[in-house]
Amino acid sequence: MSIFRADRYFERFEEVTPEILKEEGVKLLLCDLDNTIRLHSEKEPADELQGWVADCKKAGVEIMVVSNNGRKKMMKKFCEPIGVDCMWWAGKPIRNTLQKAMVKKGFKKEETVMLGDKWSTDVLAAKFAGVRSWKVDHRRNLKKS
Ligand SMILES: [Mg+2]
Repeated sequence: MSIFRADRYFERFEEVTPEILKEEGVKLLLCDLDNTIRLHSEKEPADELQGWVADCKKAGVEIMVVSNNGRKKMMKKFCEPIGVDCMWWAGKPIRNTLQKAMVKKGFKKEETVMLGDKWSTDVLAAKFAGVRSWKVDHRRNLKKS
């Protein structure tokens, strides 16, 4: 498996459906924040994000935000209303943040996927941690369509 390729590609996070997560045996979905599940400028979770998180949870999938963004207050304010845990200043791809997240949530790497928009952080972090890497398109490029 090449480190240059994600394991699956999606245009946007909404395409990662509870059905797909179930088929793939995913129990923990680690999500990048900026330009993956929100635009960089969005201060509050969008309706489609709230609905998506609720659907994933209903399907028994735990979601945790793992971001290199260091704005702890902003991240807590964004993640708390949708009921997801978050790790900020994560240091992807170098630090062992994904392992820490799996330990914290009690899931194995086989049950975990890292979803993100950037190869140099999200995809590589997944490769280093030995978890599957799913990539979405940079969200900024999709807003106008
Ligand atoms: Mg990102």
